[in-house]
Amino acid sequence: MGQQGKVLVIGLDSFDSALAEAWMAEGRLPNLARQMSASVTGRVRNPRNLDAGSVWPSFCYGADPSFHGIFDGSRSLDTVAERRGAAPNLRPIWSILEDAGKRTIVVEVPVVPEGADAKGIRILNWFSHHPTEGKSRLVLQTHPPELRQRIVRDYGEDPLHGRMCDYHQPSTADEIAWFRDALVQRVRAKTALSVDLMRREAWDFCLVNFEDGHCGGHYCWHLQEGAGRDFDAGMAARVGNPLLEIYMAIDDAVGALAAEAGGADVLVYLSHGMEHAYTGYRLLDRILARLNGELNETRNALLPQARRAWRMLPTRVRKALQPLHLPLRDRFYADRDLLPGAATRRCHEVYCGDRSSGVRIGLAGRDSGGKVRPEEYEAYCDWLIAELLAVRNDDTGGPLVSEITRTRDDFHGPLAGVLPDLLVIWSRAAPIVSVSSPSIGRLRHPHTSNRVGDHRPGGLFMLAGPGFSPQRLNDDVPVIDLAPSLAALFGVRSAAFQGSALEQLAPARP
Ligand SMILES: [Zn+2]
Ligand SMILES: [Zn+2]
Repeated sequence: MGQQGKVLVIGLDSFDSALAEAWMAEGRLPNLARQMSASVTGRVRNPRNLDAGSVWPSFCYGADPSFHGIFDGSRSLDTVAERRGAAPNLRPIWSILEDAGKRTIVVEVPVVPEGADAKGIRILNWFSHHPTEGKSRLVLQTHPPELRQRIVRDYGEDPLHGRMCDYHQPSTADEIAWFRDALVQRVRAKTALSVDLMRREAWDFCLVNFEDGHCGGHYCWHLQEGAGRDFDAGMAARVGNPLLEIYMAIDDAVGALAAEAGGADVLVYLSHGMEHAYTGYRLLDRILARLNGELNETRNALLPQARRAWRMLPTRVRKALQPLHLPLRDRFYADRDLLPGAATRRCHEVYCGDRSSGVRIGLAGRDSGGKVRPEEYEAYCDWLIAELLAVRNDDTGGPLVSEITRTRDDFHGPLAGVLPDLLVIWSRAAPIVSVSSPSIGRLRHPHTSNRVGDHRPGGLFMLAGPGFSPQRLNDDVPVIDLAPSLAALFGVRSAAFQGSALEQLAPARP
């Protein structure tokens, strides 16, 4: 354990490890490089094919999505409270440490609901990618509540106007330059606040998470040469490499926070990565409906068209219409453009991020209105899998889907029943515009994402401290083992964790 019995966790949300390692090698991220050279380091294995929306709760609870029930799209299934009711012992690591008398500071954790029993300092929904209240609005919450006023006074209002990146959808050079500057400003403000809190408050466990690399990845991926065929050299000549600048600002933050940590153990955790954004999300729902003879071709075509028309308006006009657009956008934001009537269909798509899509079978006896009888279920899944694997991307002639997994093979907790039955992983060899197969004929994607970057699986961790000798682990570390391993640094064990403390992450004791 660190000399003061302290652990600092620096979260780098969706900060791509391959880009990070390349830029470290070029000397662009000196603080991360220094941290890495002093650390036990290794790759992190995230919940299989459910990465994007489940990685943070899996890290914080030390449990996979079949225990906490949280993944991208789970918000449309039921309420967090109901899901927590099925797993009452679930506690994030900081609550477990508070129960053991430790003092905590948490500055921003995505999609982990805060209980009413906070003892430590919490700053949530601030400079985040993930609105906790749905839609796109970020409303700063603090514990104690009076901290909120001080933060706004000392660090100013959110330069992104309290909205997540998908609300702004920057696409022109001017919009991207503004977006980059706003994200860098957010990073600096969060760093200053976190250093201030670490100095003022007595703490044993402090977690500070930066989500700006996440937002930057979604909208600036195409402006760095690692984007390959998507690299937009023309725009890069005008705005440079905004993602690198955001990563460099976060690198400065890592340096400042690690310096402030003194002799504490420091975990730097890169949750998951970024790559190009090719996706069949929303298209899958139409494929499923056509396979089952349930597709009404004209219904629900209006919303995508309206969105496309909006995006074609000049920025100046969009800005002028913002007051009108705002309530409409709030109403239709979220995943409304899947086909209607999911409950009455034999199966339907469930949003799981853009890299993979879920298929929920309407199983009689499990799902209200379910049409597939339990005795048909296996054969029905086999048929669906075979049909989906037969669909081709018309642009390449190659398969649309690279892999299909059954969640029951990977997840066995009490909430396994809320997960999709199947996870369909898109082949990202090329953009997905038009697809065909003997059974579905030809289908065009209703609309592709505005994001230029999207997640790839897998994370990276670096753990440094007085008891650790630098080394690179060969085996991937399961994300659910990180929280139990951190708790073990305090001598704390908890039955609430599904994962276990790893020997490789235990400090050498004299
Ligand atoms: Zn994302
Ligand atoms: Zn974002």
